[in-house]
Amino acid sequence: MTSDANTLRTLDLPAGPAMPVLGLGTWRLGEDPARRAAEVAAVRAALRMGYRLIDTAEMYGDGGAEEVVAKAIATRRDRLFVVSKVYPHNAGRKSAVTACERSLRRLQIDRLDLYLLHWRGRIPLGETIEAFERLRAAGKIARWGVSNFDTADMRELFALSDGHHCATNQVLYHLGERGVEWELLPWLHKQRIPVMAYSPLGQGALLRKPKLAAIAKRLGTTAAQLALRWLLRSPEIIAIPESTNPEHIRANRAAAALPLDRATLREIDAAFPPPDGPAPLGML
Ligand code: NAP
Repeated sequence: MTSDANTLRTLDLPAGPAMPVLGLGTWRLGEDPARRAAEVAAVRAALRMGYRLIDTAEMYGDGGAEEVVAKAIATRRDRLFVVSKVYPHNAGRKSAVTACERSLRRLQIDRLDLYLLHWRGRIPLGETIEAFERLRAAGKIARWGVSNFDTADMRELFALSDGHHCATNQVLYHLGERGVEWELLPWLHKQRIPVMAYSPLGQGALLRKPKLAAIAKRLGTTAAQLALRWLLRSPEIIAIPESTNPEHIRANRAAAALPLDRATLREIDAAFPPPDGPAPLGML
């Protein structure tokens, strides 16, 4: 794990490049041609501010988000950590390879730093793993992982050949959605698998919670920054907030360096209690 004032903290994975703990989400990008130039400018601004992890998917904007990312990263690929995801219906032995090659073409890069199964579908997991391992051997992806997998899914994955090569599980996790803390997070921690927290701002809804705003105000910060800083309290959690507003992108970037003491953590727990029993994994 590394960190300094100007560089975002990173997490070492067993193989491939280290993963920054804060990234930029791209859901909803690439959907509207009229917004495309502004979206490219927003991603470029994020890169100038020190973001290095970009989370995208073949699903977002039907490939449009990957095209936006391609334009934004064209001149600075080498310092980035690019994540994309395959649709479950494209996650077969051959189709996942074809889907990955399509994503690489759209992104105009030779290799993804991380390739995720977007959610679990009908194709047997063993087939997807086989395709991911082939992509890895061919140098088209550095690592692979999953998304929206609950504990039982993870156990099943790990029981399969090469299943333990899974580098991360990207799940819905924010202050208003803490169910994963009951079983999934401890299980992943035991296997030393980092968690990518998606929708870390509850898609904006979390920011309207008066209790969060009140704690943030007392600390002289914003609800968004506090929500992100809370996720980054653990070295094994990666947060990927989405924004096309440069001011928000800058504020989110700054959240990683904010102080967070135990008294504030207790206050947050009182306002947004951790789970007191098992609950199915939330999913968008
Ligand atoms: P989110 O990041 O929780 O929230 C995004 C919303 O928050 C946007 O409306 C954004 O608007 C606003 N926002 C961002 N920073 C802000 C700030 N500092 N102050 C005020 N508002 C702020 O939601 P998300 O897009 O659902 O999740 C993030 C990323 O996770 C996605 O983009 C995607 O990459 C990934 N994801 C993955 C899955 C999966 O199944 N694996 C599912 C959902 C999402 P502005 O643009 O105006 O800032």
